[in-house]
Parts: sequence; structure tokens; C-alpha cells
Amino acid sequence: MKDLSREIVSRINKISRPVKIMHVCGSHEHTIMQHGIRSLLPEEVEVVAGPGCPVCCVPAREIDECVELARQGVTITTFGDMLRVPGSYGSLADAKAEGADVRIVYGVNNAVEIAKNLDREVVFMAAGFETTAPTTASAILSDPPENFSVLSCHRLIPPALKFLIESGEVNLDGLIEPGHVSTIIGTRPYIPFSRDYGIPQVIAGFNPIDVLLAVYMILRQIRNGEAKVENEYRRVVREEGNVKAQEVMREVFFVTSREWRGFPEIPDSVYEIKDEFSDFNAREKFDIELGDVVECPTGCICGAVLRGVARPEDCSLFRSECTPTNPVGACMVSREGTCNIAYRYSSF
Ligand code: SF4
Repeated sequence: MKDLSREIVSRINKISRPVKIMHVCGSHEHTIMQHGIRSLLPEEVEVVAGPGCPVCCVPAREIDECVELARQGVTITTFGDMLRVPGSYGSLADAKAEGADVRIVYGVNNAVEIAKNLDREVVFMAAGFETTAPTTASAILSDPPENFSVLSCHRLIPPALKFLIESGEVNLDGLIEPGHVSTIIGTRPYIPFSRDYGIPQVIAGFNPIDVLLAVYMILRQIRNGEAKVENEYRRVVREEGNVKAQEVMREVFFVTSREWRGFPEIPDSVYEIKDEFSDFNAREKFDIELGDVVECPTGCICGAVLRGVARPEDCSLFRSECTPTNPVGACMVSREGTCNIAYRYSSF
């Protein structure tokens, strides 16, 4: 393994040039930080993290919706990471501390089971990219109990990439595409970014060799004057993706536009539940009235971190007021968050 990584780094050095490469995956950031990959690369090869943490990307307004439902007496079920993500006026953990029924589940099926055994309304806050959306869709298609519904916070990666590229805020020379998401959507949705914007892309797995290879393959495309989608993660990702999962998502969801944390409304970037399943759509089932939305706590630069224009170390609260035990912003809450990962692995 060491010999192989040395060989790849040597090849990277031979074709190195000043480039900025973005990845959009918390697992990639974890691999990069855990294995010190940035320190192995030439200084001129910069790898930045984009909006790759599905928990961090959920905007304050969607947290507020769940907190409001919890305060109305609805049982909220969601992944553990979501509990401490700040909304405008508190988190789900705060609502729980006030007496609301907020429960951690490992998946939507746990939430359905809770609903079957409870005599009250149960909402599953469904966060995640294309990777987790199929399981939510399957649960809705599997005749869940009447007191169960979903508040969809599912987001799609390609529209966010398009938005980032077109915004011009980050001058991207290459993209490392997320392996897990690509397992579901396949390789084709990325083609326009190479064809229309000339960006080299590599779909990569999650071990250090995968990431180093992806960097090398992007540099090789740049050297050869190419811009295409290459699949380094062939052992898992197929060109067509998971067709069955795509069908299930198409059956239950439609694609609409909504803001992400750190981003304004991104066109066609979220999954919402179709009208024929509105009985299981918490937004249709309940009146959810919200006050003004406060996107980030004072001093938190999560938005800039998620857009890849700042690192956690640029935030004055990093490691002082903001730590994993006392997170100020969303990016410090989840173990997939860039700030949380930086806290655990950077020596800054
Ligand atoms: Fe926000 Fe904390 Fe990250 Fe600063 S260190 S950007 S406060 S999450």
C-alpha cells in the first residue's frame, strides 16, 4: 500500500500544476484528513471540500420546520447527527430538552416501527443525498401506518455542482465525484460538467489510494487537454447506476428548488413527495408556521465552508467556542462535517 501510494504521489509530482480540485463528500474529506493526503500533494495542487455532508447542508428553515412540529406534540424521528444541528431558534436537541418527543433512529424503517407502536403522529425527518432517498421512497411505497409521515430534506448532488460551477465563486479545475451517490445515480449525470464547462471529473472510492488516484487522473486529463468523466470506483459504480433505486425515487418524489445551508435556492436540487403520496408528506399534513429564518449562528462561517471558499481554520470560533462537544454550527455537529473532521485530524 505504501509503495503504491508513493508511486502515485511520484506520478502526481511529475504532472503537477496549480489546480483547485473540489470533492463533495464527507467520507472523502475524512479519508483526506485522516491520512494526511493534503500534505502528500504538491502545494500547488489544492483539494477543497464542497457541500458533501448531508446533515450540514440542511438549511435552518428545515430544522425550524421539525422543531415547530416537535413543539406541536408530533414525535420527530431522525438520524442522531441531526439533533444538534442549529435552527433559527434552537435545535431538535433543545426541543427534546424542553420535553418534546424527539427520537434517534438508524433508518426510516425504525421510524415506521415507532409509528406502528404509538398512538400519535410520527414524522421522519429524511435527510441525505441520492444515497438515502431510495430507502425513504421504499418506506412510503410499503403501506406505512396513517400516523406516519416524512419531512423530506433529501438533496441532489449534481444541481449543487452546477450551481457552484456557474456561480464562479470557486474556480474549479477538477471534481472528485462521490462514490456512494454515484452508486445510485451512475456516471451520466456528471457528463454536462465536462462537456459544457470543460471540467475533468473522476468518480472515486474512499480509501487513500482511491483519492490519490483520482487526483492523479484529474491532473492527467488536464495535462492531456481532456475533460471527461472517469470512473476510478469501477468496483462499485456502474455507468447506469442503480436503476431500481432510481425508479423508486421517481415514483415517489418530484424534483424542486430550495435553498441549502450556505446557498440560496438551488434550482431542481431537492426531492419533495409527490401529490399522490401527500398523506405521508408532513408539509402537507401539518400547518407549519415559521418565524424569520436565521441561517447561521453569529460568527459561524459554515456557509463559506460548504461552498468550498473557506476552511474551518478560517473561522474564529474553530476549536475555541466551537468544538464537537459544543458545536456552534452545523459543520461541527456531524462526523461528516468539514469542521468536525478538521477538529479531529488537523494540528492547527
Ligand atoms: Fe461554524 Fe464551528 Fe465551523 Fe466555525 S468552526 S464554521 S462556528 S461549525
